Amino acid sequence: MLQQTRVEYVQSYYERFLNTFPTLEALAAASLDDILCIWEGLGYYARARNLHAAARTIVASGRLPSNCEDLRSLPGIGPYTSRAIASIAFHEPVAAVDGNVRRVISRLFTHTGNPASSVQELADKLLHTGRPGDYNQAMMELGSQICTPKRPRCTRCPVQNYCMAWAEGAPEFYPAPKKKVSIPHYDVAVAVLRNAAGHIFIQQRAPEGLLGGLWELPGGKAKPDESGPATCARELQEELGVQVTVGNLIGTVKHAYSHFRITLRAYECTLIDGKPESTAGLVTTWAAPDQLNQFAFPKANRHILNLLAAPAADTS
Ligand code: SF4
Repeated sequence: MLQQTRVEYVQSYYERFLNTFPTLEALAAASLDDILCIWEGLGYYARARNLHAAARTIVASGRLPSNCEDLRSLPGIGPYTSRAIASIAFHEPVAAVDGNVRRVISRLFTHTGNPASSVQELADKLLHTGRPGDYNQAMMELGSQICTPKRPRCTRCPVQNYCMAWAEGAPEFYPAPKKKVSIPHYDVAVAVLRNAAGHIFIQQRAPEGLLGGLWELPGGKAKPDESGPATCARELQEELGVQVTVGNLIGTVKHAYSHFRITLRAYECTLIDGKPESTAGLVTTWAAPDQLNQFAFPKANRHILNLLAAPAADTS
């Protein structure tokens, strides 16, 4: 949960997750939909899918792997996590390098940070093999509390005497800053399509990839110079094989993902021809407004659904 996400934001999710799935067995027995509902809003949904798949693998095999190499065979566990678990839980002498540790090592050795493999080699050499878990946690804390990205607190640093960047007088020069890449922006239009009972049409994204397994309103990205209503009508024709008239704009949401940003516009739509069925074979359903909390939605979609649920403004 803490990957790319701040502790303050994670805390309530962590507590709710453990209250709902207190054991590996409970997590393994849950459906992915149940897990995504608890995870909704935390983002990076591959983490939830991997956690679920890992729990199922562990329960099926009857044991939690206890060394770095076996831990890496679990879904979602990479070099850093496997080394952190193996050293902290099983005292295996391996150095775990997260972003904080990378910064400390880069400064201690005036290493620019690239290639990453040599940072790992330096970390391996520094490791206290008798207390690898304590050593790794101390390095992580040093990076998060003292050797911060901006204005490191070098005068309070316990390893100042060994630090080459401090001796140079330029700690913030290390590691070398990452090249900034421009983040693309997409305009997205989605439809609120209701049936005679007032139920809303939703579809479930494919299990893999961005937002995999979450539910969403139908729609998609605008083509260059295409208006929101035109995007909505075209996407519903392509995705669901139906013709609609596009009515009022319900709301606009701006949202930033890790590699792109979107402006999502939602429109009231009325079916004029066809029966909506996913041409891509996605699972679809008509959900009553008071059932929508039982489905996990991406943040921007949830914002639109909350607008629908909000009482109409009194214009009298
Ligand atoms: S002396 Fe400063 S730059 Fe060096 S490790 Fe300590 S906090 Fe980081």
